[in-house]
Amino acid sequence: MPSLTAYDYILVGAGTAGCVLADRLSQDENARVLLLEAGSSALPDAVAEPPAWPSLASSAAGWGDATVPQGASGAPVALPRGKGLGGSSAINAMVFARGHHTSYESWSDHGAKGWTFDDLLPYFQRSETAVSGAPGRGTNGPLFVAPAADPNELLLACLSGAVEAGHRRAFDISGGLEEGFAPVDLNIVSGRRQSAADAYLHRALHRPNLDVVTDAVVHRLLFDGTRCTGVEFRAQGGVRTAAAGEVVLTAGAIGSAQLLLRSGIGPEDDLRQAQVDMLHALPGVGRNLHDHPRANLVYRARRPVPAARNNHGEIIGLLRSAPELDGPDLQIIFIDIPVPNPVAPVRNGFTIGVSPMRPASRGTLRITSADPYAPPVIDPNYFAEERDVQVVLSGIREARRIASSSAPSAWGIEEVSPGLDAVDAQSLGDHARRHFGSYCHPVGTCMMGEDEVSVVDSALRVRGLDGLRVADASVIPSIPSNNTNATVYAIAERAADLLRGV
Ligand SMILES: Cc1cc2nc3c(=O)[nH]c(=O)nc-3n(C[C@H](O)[C@H](O)[C@H](O)COP(=O)(O)OP(=O)(O)OC[C@H]3O[C@@H](n4cnc5c(N)ncnc54)[C@H](O)[C@@H]3O)c2cc1C
Repeated sequence: MPSLTAYDYILVGAGTAGCVLADRLSQDENARVLLLEAGSSALPDAVAEPPAWPSLASSAAGWGDATVPQGASGAPVALPRGKGLGGSSAINAMVFARGHHTSYESWSDHGAKGWTFDDLLPYFQRSETAVSGAPGRGTNGPLFVAPAADPNELLLACLSGAVEAGHRRAFDISGGLEEGFAPVDLNIVSGRRQSAADAYLHRALHRPNLDVVTDAVVHRLLFDGTRCTGVEFRAQGGVRTAAAGEVVLTAGAIGSAQLLLRSGIGPEDDLRQAQVDMLHALPGVGRNLHDHPRANLVYRARRPVPAARNNHGEIIGLLRSAPELDGPDLQIIFIDIPVPNPVAPVRNGFTIGVSPMRPASRGTLRITSADPYAPPVIDPNYFAEERDVQVVLSGIREARRIASSSAPSAWGIEEVSPGLDAVDAQSLGDHARRHFGSYCHPVGTCMMGEDEVSVVDSALRVRGLDGLRVADASVIPSIPSNNTNATVYAIAERAADLLRGV
């Protein structure tokens, strides 16, 4: 355990954003950086094995969260997030893709300045070395990203089916500029996962100005008036404190909002109900929680589906659910295993996932008390807005058109769930509402902007307080139209510049 004397920066959480910031900030040898992570430095071996990721959420590398029962289904929904060096980047499905550029336009709706797609572009590029060499992609970043080297033949048949059904074959679906279907970039290097810890943190660990403490749960933030002066945390069996000029929350969309609330920063009513003394009223903390829900079509195949070699979901499509939209609002992903379904077990088959990429539904993240070990109350309020269901219906129709084209049909496939009896909007809508899962992309609980419901300003400073910023998925005002990790990398890269005053 380091001596924990004063730091320039304390980073809370060693996930995607925390690993980027630990590396970038400690590149300045005069800056003293402390990175605190609730989870372990020793993760299960399966973390490195791409096809094993579905087993990780319930391992020691996951928090094991679930939502409250959802209004749409009456049931809770598992909402995994990572715990340990690398955070969610160590247990995720390794899809690496920017949102379509149109989906960042709404980031300024609450006044955020400097966060358009074009503003983020240098930071997307800084994070990556895109092996495809596609225009606009990074060539010198620590993440080596590329489509699957040895794609699954069934998924390739689905891609052919999408083109046969009239969809555009995209060149670079990860770059944020295209629509259509293509193999997506993955965080897999030489057959092994590359997490944020692998790409960013490990190269920084030897630096004398960076201290990393794992198995360290941050309990609350410490203040002198309105200035955040440090944190209180538990590590090695004792409660400790550390002080810093600036504390940066990188604990993710659940963890960062939880920590603000526990420290008395949030909506007055929520703090009163949790019996937490209010330090600073900020009505937006924990509000605006949203995520991508995903409905699945599960198929049985007569031809044996090749065993998974990569992340299961190697090929995606970004589509518009209605032609008049300004950009894609729907993702279709081909998955090389049959996910569990409510109709009948499938031993040999595959799945087509359908997800609204720009959901309108918004929920909340709350706490029940100041106890740092009490589980959060997570309510993404999936499908509260009917238009999110309509986007899924459009996706199911497209998925079926693709599945009935000649290349996938050659595999002798049959839709098991929801099953071809479900054709009308009512039964398909019921299926989507009852049997969806989380795509594990929660965002928005510490929204960035300049109005009264924003939690951080355009420089990621917590509004009304000093010495405290948030820089992770929680600051995203509205979810990008793709998987979220690439965007969080870019946010953290930009946060590093903001903190260094670049
Ligand atoms: C199962 C799963 C699959 C996913 N698949 C994909 C995918 O294929 N592609 C994609 O783009 N995105 C995917 N995502 C989402 C993506 O990984 C996240 O959006 C991204 O990693 C979020 O980064 P973050 O830095 O905001 O938070 P995280 O990476 O979650 O990091 C937060 C860290 O803070 C720590 N922490 C929390 N509270 C405390 C505390 N009080 N004290 C100390 N430490 C704390 C946590 O343990 C964690 O390590 C997936 C996520 C999951 C869980």
